[in-house]
Amino acid sequence: MGNTFIEPRPTPLALLLLGHDSDPGSERGVDCPGDLPAPSDPGLVERARAAKQALGDRVYILGHHYQRDEVIAFADVTGDSFKLAQQAAAHPEAEYIVFAGVHFMAESADILTAPDQMVILPDLAAGCSMADMAAIAQVEACWSTLAEAGVAETTIPITYMNSTAAIKAFTGRHGGAVCTSSNAEQSLRWAFERGEKVLFLPDQHLGRNTAVRELGLSLDDCVVFNPHKPGGGLTPEQIRSARVILWKGHCSVHGRFTPECVDEVRERVPGIKVIVHPECQYEVVEKADAVGSTEKIIATITAAEPGSAWAVGTELNLVKRLALANPDKQIVYLDRTVCYCATMNRIDLPHLVWALESLAAGTVVNRIEVEADTAHWARVALDRMLALPGPVAARD
Ligand code: SF4
Repeated sequence: MGNTFIEPRPTPLALLLLGHDSDPGSERGVDCPGDLPAPSDPGLVERARAAKQALGDRVYILGHHYQRDEVIAFADVTGDSFKLAQQAAAHPEAEYIVFAGVHFMAESADILTAPDQMVILPDLAAGCSMADMAAIAQVEACWSTLAEAGVAETTIPITYMNSTAAIKAFTGRHGGAVCTSSNAEQSLRWAFERGEKVLFLPDQHLGRNTAVRELGLSLDDCVVFNPHKPGGGLTPEQIRSARVILWKGHCSVHGRFTPECVDEVRERVPGIKVIVHPECQYEVVEKADAVGSTEKIIATITAAEPGSAWAVGTELNLVKRLALANPDKQIVYLDRTVCYCATMNRIDLPHLVWALESLAAGTVVNRIEVEADTAHWARVALDRMLALPGPVAARD
């Protein structure tokens, strides 16, 4: 069958200055629709406390592990994206779920909570660069390319939790499932029981690490589909002979760790152990002593021998808190050039105060609502994940 080279779709995202313009169809560059308190306001902590107290059980605040300390201080529960969505669903008494995290997490919370519960994202510009790397139009075009190559019917899509609701819904419609960094292996095995190939979205690194390290496939079994190139930059033959088609997406935080970072820290701190998140590049994971989700990283370091030294390759807010909570161990950031997740850090105390005070005054702001058909199919993909064997421990 010939390759018709379906035209690539550019990422339909204009460059917007955060907070100065808005694009309601995406997660970025959104103006705050109200008056934010000044970051220098010395009363911010007291205002947040008072608004939360006024709302009582009507509000439940979820704090992702990568959030700032000043925001985490007000979280009713902390965790990874899926645990937080489950926690939201476990609190039906809460009229408002305030999600201190990023947009795709708030979408999942909306899908998993009751229709009368409202999910609030304090800053709509808190998106995720990885989720933005797979727009639904691009993924639909990719599927057409797979159909042209004659493999769409035998390909099962698997999407990482860190994707938009539209991508989760696409996955649900095409017989696939959502996965987390803790159950990516089970989800790939599940997919290979149903098809010959997997289209893994949107994180190429988690897909490659899982396929090669956990399932024993070779690097050559994996190809990378680049949505910015005709036919994904692949020939029909390359598509037909691949076992795993990896979407060309990555996390801007975890993608920055390099094998040289591992070499450098081992030289600097003899005997140090390196633990990294599976969103890191394959070459980094191969050099590390351990790999795992945020929850696994926390559990490993908490249980480690006093006096042990650890270099951690994940988001800086979490690593800083790990270091504070484990003063008997030496905890360092894997890269000497430190880096926060810029979009996670959009949620700050002024936005949290503004959201809580607005809710306390009876004004619902920044509600995240997933359209019904999208929510239905995304839920199908999420439910398939929940039915996978083994514990579901999610994990951005
Ligand atoms: S850490 Fe990476 S995957 Fe997580 S929200 Fe930030 S950009 Fe997205």
